[in-house]
Amino acid sequence: MRTTGRGAIAIVVCLSLGPTGPADAETYLLRADGYLDVAAGRVVSPAIVLIDDDKIVAINPPAPPAGASTVDLTGLVLAPGLIDVHTHLTYEFTGDWRHRFVHETEVDAALRGVKNARRTLLAGFTTVRELGAFAGGADVALMHAIERGDVIGPRIVPARQSISITGGHCDTTGFAPGILEGGPEDGTADGVAEVLRAVRYQIKYGAKVIKICATAGVLSFEGPVGAPQYSMAELRAAVEEAHRHGLKIAAHAHGTEGIKMAIRAGIDSIEHGSLLDDEAIDLLLEHDTYLVTNIYPPGVFDYDSLPPQLRAKAEYVFPRREESFRRAVAAGVKMAYGTDAGVYEHGLNAQQLAVRVGLGMSPIDAIRSATVNAADLLGIEDLGAIAPGLLADLIAVAGDPLEDVTVFEDVRFVMKGGTVVKRP
Ligand SMILES: [Zn+2]
Repeated sequence: MRTTGRGAIAIVVCLSLGPTGPADAETYLLRADGYLDVAAGRVVSPAIVLIDDDKIVAINPPAPPAGASTVDLTGLVLAPGLIDVHTHLTYEFTGDWRHRFVHETEVDAALRGVKNARRTLLAGFTTVRELGAFAGGADVALMHAIERGDVIGPRIVPARQSISITGGHCDTTGFAPGILEGGPEDGTADGVAEVLRAVRYQIKYGAKVIKICATAGVLSFEGPVGAPQYSMAELRAAVEEAHRHGLKIAAHAHGTEGIKMAIRAGIDSIEHGSLLDDEAIDLLLEHDTYLVTNIYPPGVFDYDSLPPQLRAKAEYVFPRREESFRRAVAAGVKMAYGTDAGVYEHGLNAQQLAVRVGLGMSPIDAIRSATVNAADLLGIEDLGAIAPGLLADLIAVAGDPLEDVTVFEDVRFVMKGGTVVKRP
């Protein structure tokens, strides 16, 4: 039996669901001013949502069952729990980040992740895809701790270690030989055989998605930011292996040529997608590939903290990434919402909704990118909308999100899988 509630008003409801249901399930009635129908793109009023155990069972039922715990959300609008498909919960780009991997272990990363998972969930993000952070299996351990209920956090789809060429973006560079050198188990893999070993190893130890670094990066010390890093043969091997296991594969890709190679290899999502030309946009459309552009909100990213070589890359790439995003939106490329949280402070994930709207995306499409589209990219069918039969991941905000997406920056109520984690 689960109990929730604050102080003296703890609420406990038990329903017998018969032999097929859980012995003790909790039923909630959420009463709000309206709810966001993401598919239709409108707010429906009023909203009485019936939750039983971890699922939504009815919306505006004619006769709400007696005995359900009512949560009064007057003045608020319900929306699906938000999904961020590109986070680094176990990482923080702060302090002496360059040397962190020499001084700390994956245990430190996991414990850092506990704090950030909580922040992210309370900010309204009930699911995240954790795309690698040089931290071994910290993200997998965090996922397990959340599933057990030991700590609170979003549902996690972990990548474990990102796959990178030796000296590439997702390898750790800048040190003397012998320091932080890794093999396929750590994600560093050259040639088809090592790539296969790297993918299989991550899956063996809990990865639910594969991340491969197809091009050089911004916040790393290797060569030109746009340069492709993996060959077609290596990319294809990684894609086929991930898909053989039923997993999606995401490619870190800034440069035009590397983006095209990754799409042609069958990658499921292009992360960053900074330097798109017309052909890259056509390929995204043709292959039905998701684009996950992250555009940091103004002021959150500290350019002054960067060594000159990295600062130059950031100042070159970031404005071009905004332009690429505008063009991709105009062309109708499929978008999922990924923030790269961890490169800046965790818990501010919703701020990129307004950034996207400012770059030409409609509010409903920005919201869809963080709900239905994100669920589709993750391959989780029962997430991303408010409808009977779906998982009860719901949030509530103070205002009409279709008029002002910044209402998501101050989420008042959070329910994940039928459990209330934040109340007004
Ligand atoms: Zn990232």
